[in-house]
Amino acid sequence: MNKEIVVSGIRSTGYLHLGNYLGAIQNYVRMQENYNCYFFVADYHALTTHPDPKELRQNVYRVLAENIASGLDPEKVALYAQSDIPEIPELYLMLNMIAYKGELEKVPTFKDKVRQHPENVNAGLLTYPVLMSADILIHKAVKVPVGKDQEQHLEMARNFAQRFNGRYGEFFPEPQVFRMNQDTIKIMSLDGTGKMSKSENVNATIFLSDEDEVIRKKIMKAKTDSGPTEPNAPMPDYIQNLFVLMQTTSKPEVVEAYRNAYNNCNVRYGDMKKQLAEDMIAFIKPIREHAADLQNDKAKMQRILKQGAEKARSSAAATIAGARKAMGINYY
Ligand code: ATP
Ligand code: MG
Repeated sequence: MNKEIVVSGIRSTGYLHLGNYLGAIQNYVRMQENYNCYFFVADYHALTTHPDPKELRQNVYRVLAENIASGLDPEKVALYAQSDIPEIPELYLMLNMIAYKGELEKVPTFKDKVRQHPENVNAGLLTYPVLMSADILIHKAVKVPVGKDQEQHLEMARNFAQRFNGRYGEFFPEPQVFRMNQDTIKIMSLDGTGKMSKSENVNATIFLSDEDEVIRKKIMKAKTDSGPTEPNAPMPDYIQNLFVLMQTTSKPEVVEAYRNAYNNCNVRYGDMKKQLAEDMIAFIKPIREHAADLQNDKAKMQRILKQGAEKARSSAAATIAGARKAMGINYY
């Protein structure tokens, strides 16, 4: 039986964190058995902010290592660097011809970036959703596991697929948002001001590479309050977030005990954070150590990248050949 095709990418913009793990990688790991998965490190996407070359290279290796340490198996999925697949920029060029300036300027993430960095509104930033569409359509993917922040980009990928099909004949399937569990998890930063992120809120974000003591400090500083004053009170989002983290790392009976304490108005957040910190350390330590070992083994990392690129290119080449034919740019 043919497995359904899934594509997803993570930008190589920094260190991976619990939000990436719980919102993305954990789902990738669950999918690798039952789907035909293409997971890539989005290094071209990282170029919009002009990273230092040495840093970018390190980030690519790290994202790769941290994904594998988190449970992705390069034998089961195609794990590759976006820039190793020249067919992606080729499709990006084709799609740029049917993407319009007006619709790209309206994308909320673009408008945000313009506001945050008015000095760097480059064309790559404007056409980011086109490149993302090429990433997905290059494998004719039908399912794309993305977080809430990416849903609109995926809608654009569907629009471009439709437009291409309308002009050149049925060719691309329309990719759909794919969620393993009904509600998308969004991990807040520990100070309660935004989400955990590679590039923002870094002091309130727990990274997969954080040392034990750093994890302990960050968690002990997490935002709490004086506790609920009536039984079964609704939880503020920053407390809810601590429970979500606890559910990932602590034993079910421990979580249950703190949940009951919350509902009975005698929860002690200091104790809860101490427990969470120790369980979090036990959870992250093996991932951190495995990722560090992998990063030190450059030859192995390069083998993995090459193998992933080979798998991805054979699918990408078939798509490009078909797209060229549909557009009339096949002469031989
Ligand atoms: P950047 O700050 O560079 O945008 P990021 O931390 O937002 O980095 P991305 O590379 O943009 O990470 O996203 C990779 C994947 O992780 C996406 O599927 C995204 O939805 C998911 N993700 C990112 N942050 C969180 C979070 N705080 N909670 C849940 N999922 C998240
Ligand atoms: Mg992001």
